[in-house]
Amino acid sequence: MTEPVVSIRNLSKVYQQGDIQVTALNGVSLDIGAGEFLALMGPSGSGKSTLLHIIAGVDRPTDGQCLVQGVDVGQLDESALADWRNQNVGFVFQSFNLIPVLTAFENVELPLLLTQLGGRERKRLATTALELVGLGDRSHHLPRQLSGGQEQRVAIARALVTDPRLIVADEPTGNLDAHSAQEVLGILQALSRTAGKTVIMVTHDPKAAAFGSRSVHLEKGELLP
Ligand code: ADP
Ligand code: MG
Repeated sequence: MTEPVVSIRNLSKVYQQGDIQVTALNGVSLDIGAGEFLALMGPSGSGKSTLLHIIAGVDRPTDGQCLVQGVDVGQLDESALADWRNQNVGFVFQSFNLIPVLTAFENVELPLLLTQLGGRERKRLATTALELVGLGDRSHHLPRQLSGGQEQRVAIARALVTDPRLIVADEPTGNLDAHSAQEVLGILQALSRTAGKTVIMVTHDPKAAAFGSRSVHLEKGELLP
């Protein structure tokens, strides 16, 4: 493997719900290299989303370490963590999560409004990202005027417009037909192969996982050997 971008050691996550403790992750250790396209597999409730959320800095571990490019993400305070996320992570969700009243272009431009970039540069970057996912001609469409596959491609453009090191995707093809799923998976694969992005994708579909460069399996919060 190339130099690991993500280095996870003895990671545990316990959720406290009233009197009940739920162990979502139990001593997970994993390295993920630059440019890898990792498929994170396992049955429902095995801790896939929890692990993805900790890597992406939206949840914190109870114990152990998750270093991303040497930064112990769980140790950052809320505002440092928010900055870190904006600069380093692009998110893709199962249900796309586009803003319905914004056009494709405006959805993709949105993360850039949190940066210092001016309007002209934002326009250039958002246009390039939409072209990269094959939707240069759909800039002015609203989400409801797009197919599910096109919506997810807009969401990928939004995830990559800030040029983040990591792209994390939670069941990105879960709501798509087979053909659209293949398009989306092909784009994620190209991002890892040609743009050198580290892509981490949760899926329980072996066909989707086959697009990845490696698969790991979680079961009851532990990685299978
Ligand atoms: P997966 O994505 O593999 O389906 P999750 O990571 O979502 O699994 O969940 C792992 C376990 O942790 C499950 O038992 C789930 O009920 C529990 N869990 C996840 N998030 C929370 C939360 N915010 N509060 C309490 N329990 C949670
Ligand atoms: Mg999940």
